[in-house]
Amino acid sequence: MDVNDNKKTLLRMLPGVDNILEHSKTEPFFENIPKSVLVRSIRNIVDDLRNAILDGRQNITENDLTEKNLIVSKILKKVIGLAESIMSPNLMHTINATGVVVHTNLGRSLLSTDAVENLLLISGRYSNLEFDLSAGKRGIRYSCVEDILCELSGAESAMVVNNNAGAVLLCLETIARGKKVVVSRGELVEIGGSFRIPDVMAKSGCILKEVGTTNRTRLKDYENAIENDTGLLLKVHTSNYSIVGFTASVSLKEMVELGTKYHIPVMEDLGSGTFIDFSKYGMSKEPTVQESVASGADVVTFSGDKLLGGPQAGIIVGKKDILDKIKQNPLTRALRIDKLTLAALESTMRLYRDPDKALEKIPTLRMLTVPISQIEEKARQLGMILEDIGNLNLCVKIIDRSSKAGGGALPLLDIPTKCAGVKVKGMSVNSIERYMRVNRPPVIGRIEEDMFIMDLRTVQDDELQMIGEAFNNMLKRA
Ligand SMILES: *Cc1c(COP(=O)(O)O)cnc(C)c1O
Repeated sequence: MDVNDNKKTLLRMLPGVDNILEHSKTEPFFENIPKSVLVRSIRNIVDDLRNAILDGRQNITENDLTEKNLIVSKILKKVIGLAESIMSPNLMHTINATGVVVHTNLGRSLLSTDAVENLLLISGRYSNLEFDLSAGKRGIRYSCVEDILCELSGAESAMVVNNNAGAVLLCLETIARGKKVVVSRGELVEIGGSFRIPDVMAKSGCILKEVGTTNRTRLKDYENAIENDTGLLLKVHTSNYSIVGFTASVSLKEMVELGTKYHIPVMEDLGSGTFIDFSKYGMSKEPTVQESVASGADVVTFSGDKLLGGPQAGIIVGKKDILDKIKQNPLTRALRIDKLTLAALESTMRLYRDPDKALEKIPTLRMLTVPISQIEEKARQLGMILEDIGNLNLCVKIIDRSSKAGGGALPLLDIPTKCAGVKVKGMSVNSIERYMRVNRPPVIGRIEEDMFIMDLRTVQDDELQMIGEAFNNMLKRA
């Protein structure tokens, strides 16, 4: 029989979709699978087999197919696997063993229990989102967080939009559309690829006026740049990079004095805003929101989910007259924040009334300030869990490394930490990394010095056992 005849025979023997669908009725797994998913899964698997036969890719022989029942049960097994993966959510719990606390790719900040509980309550109920209960009429969406934001920051007025990129866009558009905005060349930063100060400036309809040089900008540079059509002096936190060495920059306070002299508003984009002075905890100094407000800036913007440790949001605080204009800008509607975010944000902000409580209850802050002895204890526990698997090929070491704050905050700061470094005899470190990444839940670590390294700073207590199971399963298959 020539090759083509053989293929034709095999194709003829391949069970049809309807046939497999009929057989699937005997399989309890499919009871809770919607018909559309079942049919799609069967079709995919049968198509794959057909293509494999046509390309002569797989070792499919007539023998495989003559045993009709055998092939059907084989196909059903594959269909279950596919249907299972179609049915499970794409967005899933992932274990962060990178040691980067505010990891943008892994969802930035974890919410505090308070915020999660409030989120749960508000999301399943009606709320007074835009209803003023005392006046009995329509209210304002972000009013539930305005008072706490003013209380914490010392600002006259506050509002919140979808994220900080949106906050910057909205402020620029409101304050200085069609006018020049003066920024230091050292602050024309790009954050996470898609947010570049010059591009946001262009989108907001403002004209960028660069001053100074990359490493040195002086007050005189700002003053010389001021013209009749200058609408704003802007300071941008350089977030994810640092200029070191022969440098000079102008403080926000000096910029405010200059702005006052020429009647030009001053704005600061803090990026990762914080209410906590990290220098009190042995870390480098990040400007706080309160300090920026006290310096007299007209508007200050920052993220909700970076060092603040809340949900994704862009917070705007500042002088009432400018905030009133911002609130009336039609763009606010396009950038508006939803009730789930508001519920989580309000709870998070309320924790800041007691900074010690905030440090203990907000996971981002807790992970940044946890004593290294506690991280070491976790590393030891993980080591024990892994040793209990009892596989002699597995070798675990506790090693010293450093963690990063992430989220464009404290870029130069290396926070001493403890990691578990794993090797498996007879298995490449790349396969370990890959296996951990496709595990459910995925475990994201890194490869260094031919070891798979997990930084325990960002691993939650209840995730130690899950990592243990992942290794157990991996070793069973290896
Ligand atoms: C992160 C950052 C932004 C963008 O904030 P998102 O909340 O991610 O939109 C803007 N400016 C600076 C300086 C930042 O660090």
